Amino acid sequence: MRWLILCVVAAVGCRGEAKPKRKAFEDAAVPIDAPRVTTAEQRDALFASVPTAKAVRGLIERLAAKPHVAGTKANEDVAKEIMRTLGRMGWKLGTAQYGVYMPLPKRLAIHVRGDKPFELAVTEAAAAGESAPELLAWNAYSASGTVSAPVVYASYGRATDFAALKQAGVDVKGKVALLRYGPLYRGAQVASAERAGAAAVIFYVDPEDEPTRPRDTVQRGTALYYWQYPGDPLTPGVPASPDAPRKRPAQVDVLPKIPVLNVTADEAAKLLAVITGPQASPELAGGLAAPYHLGPGPVIEVAVELDTETRPIRNVIAIFDGKSPHAVVLGNHYDAWGYGAVDPHSGTAALIEIARGLRALQLAGWRPRRTIIIGFWDAEEMGMIGSTEWVEDQAAMLAPNAVAYFNIDSIKAGPLVVGASPALREHVRACAHDSVDPATGKPFEPAFEELGIGSDWTAFLHHAGIASLQWRTGKGTGTFDVWHSLRDDATYAGTKADPDFAFIPAFAKLVGGCAVRLADAEYLPLRYSETATWLADAITALDPDAGSESRPLHLRPTAKLDRTKLDLALAALREAATRAEAMPMKAGGDPAACNGALTVAERGFLAPDGLVGRPWYRHLATGPDPENGYGARLLPELAAAIAAKDAKAIARATDRLADAITRVAAALEPCR
Ligand SMILES: [Zn+2]
Repeated sequence: MRWLILCVVAAVGCRGEAKPKRKAFEDAAVPIDAPRVTTAEQRDALFASVPTAKAVRGLIERLAAKPHVAGTKANEDVAKEIMRTLGRMGWKLGTAQYGVYMPLPKRLAIHVRGDKPFELAVTEAAAAGESAPELLAWNAYSASGTVSAPVVYASYGRATDFAALKQAGVDVKGKVALLRYGPLYRGAQVASAERAGAAAVIFYVDPEDEPTRPRDTVQRGTALYYWQYPGDPLTPGVPASPDAPRKRPAQVDVLPKIPVLNVTADEAAKLLAVITGPQASPELAGGLAAPYHLGPGPVIEVAVELDTETRPIRNVIAIFDGKSPHAVVLGNHYDAWGYGAVDPHSGTAALIEIARGLRALQLAGWRPRRTIIIGFWDAEEMGMIGSTEWVEDQAAMLAPNAVAYFNIDSIKAGPLVVGASPALREHVRACAHDSVDPATGKPFEPAFEELGIGSDWTAFLHHAGIASLQWRTGKGTGTFDVWHSLRDDATYAGTKADPDFAFIPAFAKLVGGCAVRLADAEYLPLRYSETATWLADAITALDPDAGSESRPLHLRPTAKLDRTKLDLALAALREAATRAEAMPMKAGGDPAACNGALTVAERGFLAPDGLVGRPWYRHLATGPDPENGYGARLLPELAAAIAAKDAKAIARATDRLADAITRVAAALEPCR
């Protein structure tokens, strides 16, 4: 069996087949005397009876006991704790290990020169007394180096912000840029600063953007240019195994070339106080009690020193064998920027509770039609590294077998938001319909969003063409006001993020129950008619002839889009999808053949040679937005070609997209 590949490193089986230990922690206790499950109702009822707030609390308190940045011993201990917890339930686990280029910081410093020299703190107040290097206010994949130059303030550091500085007569070339975090990915801010000629970046969180964030915290984070590709920077497209061919850091296009680090808002205010020059406009200025001049300010010396180590990472994998190797994969990362009580262990706790529910079903004699794989990913915070390496490693297993990928990350009490491949949205609605939102006592009402990049679904969807779901909750940005700081601890998780942990168990029931139903469905509920509608809307939104003044300037009509091929392909997809969706009603159909077709249909969107300029990203219907760095850009090649007003590129992108849609339609042929 192919699954065994996963277990080689660990020298143990991966399957949850052993008896659970009787002497178990409360949060690992599996009901072993439940009656046998023979119906879908019994299945759903037993699964939903398992997750509890008490178990979630115990898990989060243990997993978030210490800061555990990827690559450190403390993070390895968290992997072991996850393995112990699942082991107590009776799961046999595998680990998948890789060696990735993952530097850790050795030294950070900021000295302000000038008349009254002073030093800025480069740790968080909460870290006082702790000297471990992972507690420094650093950004992963910062360049190492010392820069001595005047400082400028450039707001979010977008191209438009640097243009405003230029207009005000402030030269950014060779300067240190003080930037506030904002609505775009920090790596995209660094890249933008590099393009503007900045020599270093100092980040802080402005209270205008996050009014409730404690001003003595920093928001750490990676600056990897992962809109080019995520994962180990030195082994794009292949698993970072010991014998993998590795590039040199200077050869890759995902590593920032300038030093980057963080200060708290309190420290940023001290720096803003000494920056002179033109006044920032109200759009550029923030909410600190500081003058917000654009600069140049005094000369400051920024020193960032990271080591150049390749470090081991390990994913923890559990497998529940179904009757078929077709598989539903669920995952969440376990590494953190600090204690990580919410990000990620609200999600880790939910995933462990899902695993406990699955063990209860297993012990009650239930075996799903399809296999369920659970992954606890390492080094997500550095750039979705554990999940990316695993997807690259398991490509041959995933391509014929993966039905869907479910991702969890930070969970706070709040309304349900699901980043969703269109084919899976109807299934999410059906699951939500039968769920209970503890806030209302009524079913969850999912709001859907497009899947950009930024957590562990990235490789599954964009590289491997696996229909994906990102389950999150949301009350708008800025509400997780201790994100990536040392204040994200168990107290915060159980009081501010999810008071008394009333929400996470309900979330685990919803997400796990939805995975169980998908894994056990007689007819897979994937709806490619919804994909067809989504594609048609996306094409219309880009079509110059369908012109709308509300569109962003770079997408305004200038070049003609010939829709003929696209419309023909869409008609074929609609027809094939309609036939597939009628299968459950049809007598004499072949569910096995149609299920097999639906399992692989999404792979039809993959371009084997990848997107133009970004070959690791292969999904022709959706890709990452390189300007925002987190968001989705639908029909990425066509959007880029239309934005570039390049008729030849538009024709090529149109052909490639039409061919992809036709491949998806053809994949659904067995559904008749
Ligand atoms: Zn996370």
